[in-house]
Amino acid sequence: MLLLARTRSVLRVALVAVAMAAIFVADTLTNYEVAAAVLYAVVVLSAERALQPRALRALGMACIAMTVLSFMLTPRGHYHAGLINMGLSVSAIAMVTWLVLRMQRARAAAQAAQARLERIARAQNLSGLTTSIAHELNQPLAAIVTSGNAAQRWLAQAPPQLDKARQALQRMQADAERASSVIARVRSLTRGEPPQASRFDLNASVREIVALSHDRLQEEGIDLHQALAAGLPPVWADPVQVQQVIGNLLLNALDAMPAAPGARREVHIDTAREGDTVVFTIRDSGIGLAPEVQAHLFDAFWTTKPQGIGIGLSISRTIVEANGGRIWAEPAAGLGAVFRFSLPAAPQEKLP
Ligand code: ADP
Repeated sequence: MLLLARTRSVLRVALVAVAMAAIFVADTLTNYEVAAAVLYAVVVLSAERALQPRALRALGMACIAMTVLSFMLTPRGHYHAGLINMGLSVSAIAMVTWLVLRMQRARAAAQAAQARLERIARAQNLSGLTTSIAHELNQPLAAIVTSGNAAQRWLAQAPPQLDKARQALQRMQADAERASSVIARVRSLTRGEPPQASRFDLNASVREIVALSHDRLQEEGIDLHQALAAGLPPVWADPVQVQQVIGNLLLNALDAMPAAPGARREVHIDTAREGDTVVFTIRDSGIGLAPEVQAHLFDAFWTTKPQGIGIGLSISRTIVEANGGRIWAEPAAGLGAVFRFSLPAAPQEKLP
């Protein structure tokens, strides 16, 4: 895919060069009255996707220089008309170049805003919780450290004060239980709203989420293959929550892609019917799942990413289970990881 993208952009540059040469020849050989140079503006416009801003600016300037050169080399026609035509062509090229540069800047800003939105959407599940978690967990954790130190001191005495040490250990256990009940409360909070189940087409949900990631897939040269089963029964679940899960699994797959140039970057998504359920599968050619990673995948706040929150998979599991399904992961046969979830197929009698 990366190779394909590179070949495509080399082809585009070659096409631009050919078009410029053709315009130059036409502009030079025809009379002054024929304003062929205006076509350079079309060249600049069509190169917008293939070139970086600096290269685009250079292209605009080259087009202007070639327009002037053609004017000087043109042997025939009405000189004044030629002068006016050249002026018009130069200003058209300059204006189009300026507009195209602005368009590029606007597109980059929109992409950055979208990436931020994605991150916020992930983090908002946590908003308001982080402060209270930190606050509520700090107290029992500090107490555990104090009791641990005390226990060590009692044990280090000669003879060791076993009774005192046992009391300190009991306090540690009670505090650890307090901390774990805080975590249990947090988990029940992240469970959020009860699902609003309805009948819907899982394939359509997949397509919507994939379309949202289109820009990132292209930018990073990731090849996405979809094999969405035809004739799937509708599922019975909360469509918004299910899309949240699909989006999260897809983002994780993209995050796991190897950075090395030339590496294989592929994501396969498929859907299938299995008994009374519909199963969604996403397989990537990413870094894969080491055993220690696999053991913690679905733990809340467990992450290996520098900017990660580590709650996406935990929330995904809560959602899938609340909707009557199951989610699991396994290392892929070759490279990468496989994540799957199942959802109940909607019974016939359940209306939309
Ligand atoms: P986050 O994305 O914020 O780290 P998640 O709960 O979504 O939180 O994921 C937890 C961890 O699971 C990730 O940090 C990563 O180590 C691992 N993981 C998730 N998806 C994949 C994947 N497709 N390939 C490899 N590791 C993964």
